[in-house]
Amino acid sequence: MLELARAGQKKAPEPSGAPQPGPEFKAAEALACKALLLADTYQTPPVPKTYEVWYSYAAGVPEEVAGKINAIIEKNGSLGTYDLDQIHLEYLALSERERKRQDALNFHLDREMDEIAKLVQAHIASSDSYSGSLKHTGASLSASATPAQVRSAIEILLSENAKMRSQTAKLGSALAESRAQVRKLRTSLERSREMEMRDPMTNLANRRYFELQLQREIGESRNNNAPMCLVLVDIDHFKIINDTYGHPVGDDVLRFFAGMLANNVKGRDLAARYGGEEFALILPATGPGEAQKLIRHIMNQLQTTNLVLSQGKTPIGKLTASYGIARLRDGDDSETLIARADTRLYEAKNAGRNRIASDT
Ligand code: GH3
Ligand code: MG
Ligand code: MG
Repeated sequence: MLELARAGQKKAPEPSGAPQPGPEFKAAEALACKALLLADTYQTPPVPKTYEVWYSYAAGVPEEVAGKINAIIEKNGSLGTYDLDQIHLEYLALSERERKRQDALNFHLDREMDEIAKLVQAHIASSDSYSGSLKHTGASLSASATPAQVRSAIEILLSENAKMRSQTAKLGSALAESRAQVRKLRTSLERSREMEMRDPMTNLANRRYFELQLQREIGESRNNNAPMCLVLVDIDHFKIINDTYGHPVGDDVLRFFAGMLANNVKGRDLAARYGGEEFALILPATGPGEAQKLIRHIMNQLQTTNLVLSQGKTPIGKLTASYGIARLRDGDDSETLIARADTRLYEAKNAGRNRIASDT
């Protein structure tokens, strides 16, 4: 803590003409108060990350933050630091950093494209001048041209042709270089975009990507008149694992579970981390029967896998999860489809966990 007035030192007089806080300051102060109050209400210590989420909730920017928080509170009656961390990751932290990176990459990409445009322009210009000199040389040759005139015309043509060939070769290598540069930039950009869409802990698609993809796949299924299923998965009694073995082990278990889901989907299917210990599977071109078959296969794998702590070889035992399957129906949008999968998931939980509840 900084000491402002040392013992024996005269205290600085209260500044009489100190500037009064302006409306911007007051507005920010009011938001800060709200954020702290929210942190207190939900017992989430206002460390910078948590505080930032609550501040953005109070400010309503970005809009999605308040929506997500309200939905979690409505569903669970409360929310914890994990939820806020997740929201921070999805809407505040990574996106800001990645956006800057993407802006920089886009800038380079634009510049490279400009270079290519210039090269092509230069080539067109030299091509024009080549055809101009061909025309000129052709016109200067008449039927009665002497052998010397023909020889000189041929020499001009040969030299113009050599010039053109060398220019074309130069252009070719400059274009190849530019193309390689563009390819490299594009790969970086794609990787950067992909990172923004990934949950860093489990490496699965994150909630944001899941929601985008769900909308896309609903559209595709409608266009192709094809079935489609959404599965919401929630690990059973996960809190006990955290409480018994600690959060780092809990994290490892989440990674194991995520990896197993990822290994069981293929093609256009998508496995995503939906929230803390909740996951989602988008299964295009899949009816409820086939979806249940896939889930039973996953449940079988879990049933036959004994988790063991790598240090000390302490057995954790078997992991179970509950599954809610919703089938895309006429009139569904992503929200109603998610809501139904969620209802099914809660049916599975209420019926005793380690089971599937499915639309027919
Ligand atoms: P249920 O069978 O009803 O789903 O019980 P549960 O214990 O799985 O569900 P509950 O919602 O009570 O607890 C979920 C816990 O998951 C609470 C939270 O601390 C923990 N969690 C959420 N995200 C993470 C994470 O990223 N890492 C770890 N280690 N724990 C997490
Ligand atoms: Mg849960
Ligand atoms: Mg759970």
